[in-house]
Amino acid sequence: MNVLIVGGGGREHAITAALARSSKNPSLFAVMSKKNPGIAGLCKDFLLSKETDVEKVVEFAVRKNAEIAVIGPEAPLSMGLADALENAGIRVAAPRKAVAQIEFNKGWARNFMKDNGIAGCPAFEVFTEKGPMDQFIEKLGDVAIKPAGLTGGKGVKVMGDQLPHLTAAMEYAASLLASGSVVVEENLKGEEFTLQAFVDGEHLAFMPTVQDHKRAFEGDLGPNTGGMGSYNDAGEILPFLVKEDVEQAKQIMLDTVKALRKVTGIGYKGALYGQFMITKDGPKVIEFNARFGDPEAMNVLSLLDTDYVDVLYAIVSGTLDKFDVKFSRKATVCKYAVPAGYPDKPTSDREVIVGDIGDALLFYSSVYEDDGKVYTTGSRAVAVVGIADTIAEAEKAAQHALDNIKGDLHSRRDIGTAGLIQKRIDHMKKIRG
Ligand code: AMP
Repeated sequence: MNVLIVGGGGREHAITAALARSSKNPSLFAVMSKKNPGIAGLCKDFLLSKETDVEKVVEFAVRKNAEIAVIGPEAPLSMGLADALENAGIRVAAPRKAVAQIEFNKGWARNFMKDNGIAGCPAFEVFTEKGPMDQFIEKLGDVAIKPAGLTGGKGVKVMGDQLPHLTAAMEYAASLLASGSVVVEENLKGEEFTLQAFVDGEHLAFMPTVQDHKRAFEGDLGPNTGGMGSYNDAGEILPFLVKEDVEQAKQIMLDTVKALRKVTGIGYKGALYGQFMITKDGPKVIEFNARFGDPEAMNVLSLLDTDYVDVLYAIVSGTLDKFDVKFSRKATVCKYAVPAGYPDKPTSDREVIVGDIGDALLFYSSVYEDDGKVYTTGSRAVAVVGIADTIAEAEKAAQHALDNIKGDLHSRRDIGTAGLIQKRIDHMKKIRG
């Protein structure tokens, strides 16, 4: 069985590692833009190419007789890579472009939710003109502003409800109009969490809920990043959530997959990522992603007990309802080591030296291997995952590992610590009132 993995980051290293654990002994092939040593070490062969070069990826997949393909990042999905691979006769456990646009076309995604009565959609409107946009910003008062296209989460700005924030919001929104339409929506208040599911076009197999940390520095300070680390609790529910929150979020995702099929005529296949804000009125959708989250993939795939090759088969065959996808009931804490200065002024091409990481798992992200040594690129470098019965023990394992990774790096020591988790619980108590 030959499996193709597209992408070369921490998420794809986690995907590759989960496939490498399969009792089916699949032959793994990867396409990545730089040589990720973690992925390269697990694959039979790999192609160094831009993941968005659809023709090259398809040619490699065909040449290697890939039977199933998994696509990690969003950019190739937005280029229609899943469609192109399927057209070449390869089964793909990732969504076609028409349904993947739930991620890369934020304006479409919001209108889709509204038109199909999907619960958890915040007040929003999509604009192409400044006049009506300013009026709506003034009406909502407290807003989040997003470019409608794909930005890696980095073009989103959340503003307050006071002047001069309102003027700043209008100025920022106007500056985005130059490159396309702009989504203005209500600023949701609460705690964020991630719910991911495997989807086979119709059925969903849910994974444990995870919380990511977007801000660069401890105490949730500094600029937004791709995600500095994440954790889950043993079982499927985070400490600040109640069962009903997760049940409602699941229903939103079930309704979304059903409506996607109705609207596009295409079944959504692959991993679906729901980013939720748990508010005083229950879960609201911040956004959907058409793939695993990074870092969240490292938490959940490290716990996947069911053979991943069987899961991929079920996804492409529409048979996910026929068996139970199981995750170990353990807590995980994932922490990223990122280049000093990341995300604004990161250093790059500095060596990363991995020492004794104990029982933790290591995932390489934006690094490259040269002459047996590993170097940073300027984006998130390596992640470690501690796995244990409690979040506290998992945090200890992750931090021990991180302390033994040397380089011009920084990380957040507070992720998964009792203090930060208590802060989340207290915050939610206040929000729920
Ligand atoms: P996104 O690219 O949509 O994931 O947004 C990036 C970040 O902006 C999210 O992780 C949230 O922290 C924040 N954000 C986005 N939309 C909203 C919203 N409507 N209300 C509050 N925060 C938001």
